[in-house]
Amino acid sequence: MESVLNKGTPAGLGVDKAYDVVVVGGGVAGAHTAMAVARFSKGRLSILLIDRNSAEEFGKKTRMGWSCGDAVSKKSMDFVCSNLGISYGHPEIEHKVDGVLVYSPDHESKVLFDGDGYILNRKVWASRQLEYLEKFGVEVRHGVDAHSLIASDGYIRGVRCKDLSTGEDVEFYAKVVVDASGSASKLRTNLPIQSYIEREIDKENDVIGTGRYIVEFERGEDDPTWFDPRYCIIHLDQVMAPGGYSWVFPKGENKANIGLGVLRRLLKQRNARLGVDENLQDLIEKYLSLNRAVRNPRPSSSPLDENNIFNIWQVPVRRQNDCLVANGFAIIGDAAWMPRPIDAGGIGPALEASIILGRHLVEAIEMGDVSQAGLWRYNVEYVRRRGYQMASFEVLRRYLQGLSNERISFGMKYFLSQEDVESIKRREHPRFPLLTSLMRYLLDGSLRRKIREDPELAKGLRLTAEKSRRLITLYGQYPEEPSGFEKWHKRFLAELNDAYRRLSPQTV
Ligand SMILES: Cc1cc2nc3c(=O)[nH]c(=O)nc-3n(C[C@H](O)[C@H](O)[C@H](O)COP(=O)(O)OP(=O)(O)OC[C@H]3O[C@@H](n4cnc5c(N)ncnc54)[C@H](O)[C@@H]3O)c2cc1C
Repeated sequence: MESVLNKGTPAGLGVDKAYDVVVVGGGVAGAHTAMAVARFSKGRLSILLIDRNSAEEFGKKTRMGWSCGDAVSKKSMDFVCSNLGISYGHPEIEHKVDGVLVYSPDHESKVLFDGDGYILNRKVWASRQLEYLEKFGVEVRHGVDAHSLIASDGYIRGVRCKDLSTGEDVEFYAKVVVDASGSASKLRTNLPIQSYIEREIDKENDVIGTGRYIVEFERGEDDPTWFDPRYCIIHLDQVMAPGGYSWVFPKGENKANIGLGVLRRLLKQRNARLGVDENLQDLIEKYLSLNRAVRNPRPSSSPLDENNIFNIWQVPVRRQNDCLVANGFAIIGDAAWMPRPIDAGGIGPALEASIILGRHLVEAIEMGDVSQAGLWRYNVEYVRRRGYQMASFEVLRRYLQGLSNERISFGMKYFLSQEDVESIKRREHPRFPLLTSLMRYLLDGSLRRKIREDPELAKGLRLTAEKSRRLITLYGQYPEEPSGFEKWHKRFLAELNDAYRRLSPQTV
């Protein structure tokens, strides 16, 4: 595909300013991508980052605040810090944890995913990112809302924005525009050129409605299944959080981020079944009031949490967009549906993707080819490092969402092995060896009895493991160049759709 370098600005379009890279969105994905481009180009490239918030509210997701559970693995933070030569500490890292504990609906089984993690103060973290952006020489425009992309000759050339302080339209041109504007991206949805990037997500099945409080409290009962300052706690419960989960993430000895996420379609079904009309906020309040380890919860009094106490937003929980680039354009973070389908963790994927994208943007611009083909390595490297597991987690997530509380408790108690826990810790799909190994089946009489108690559950989990292997193999064949994409995508979607068909709730 032809390079756009040296083509100049399309005639007839007024230019406010032209850059090498314009990044839209000052969240975790956009801020670190801009830093990465600055770092890897050693300051040679001009970068503009646009965020619709004021400087004081940099990176704020919605009007309600910096909506997040605030948890991230130390590993992801170390990765981004070592690549960018930066460091984060207190107060943006508010609290340290030793791992995540997941409880079954009946609270009888718990699974520990140990590993160092951080609970962030997202608001303070965003201001630290802004300081680094300034150090890296990135130009940041606050209070600018990007509403559409500018295209000509099949390439994205820039972005049309509204300056929110003056109400005036402004246009910025760039060799590459990066969409890091989060899960409600207008840019990806209205992408005006031909591309393999999918515009829309399946909102019914692949978007979780989620919200949380940041609260202080006195300690109530000494019950570590409800609060433990050393661990992030996750409760699985299809009545409390249908199709999602609820969480208590500690921010100190007497402070926590407490919230839950639901699949709205399943919430409606659950409400109809129970004859109630509860919304997400009702469920969060209820969950908070049920917590026997947390007494007298009240909004955090810390000035660092001002305007960030309660908020509700959405997280995409699909695999990442099957293609992340187009001519002069790339997507990242929630705009690219990067959060892990199984737990909606999106900070780690966004951080890692920002380093990969940053490197390949610099390479493509300096090679003079910002076409889809020139940017394609970002697709390949992201799939290789992170993305290859995501479709299999999507299949597992959709399957688990269709199970009752009893079945989830039963499965966690009898069918989940330590090997599965180790796989999930490595961010891999569990293989359910208890259900897939013939030898174990033959040697273990009590396991055979349990399988006979719920053979359909055993069959469903076995099938998710089999589908996982196939989808990962297909990701291993992700095309090295755009010319191979259509053929690959057809095979990939056929495998995925077959999984959905065979794992639909009617069959389990
Ligand atoms: C309630 C909740 C709990 C979560 N918990 C966790 C967790 O514990 N751990 C975890 O890893 N992940 C969690 N996530 C997901 C995680 O927060 C996101 O994956 C992550 O913040 C995505 O970062 P981003 O930069 O892609 O998008 P965002 O953080 O959404 O940032 C987008 C930025 O772009 C700006 N913007 C949007 N549109 C425009 C526009 N048109 N013009 C200019 N600027 C624009 C926004 O104002 C914002 O500053 C949670 C999400 C929610 C909602």
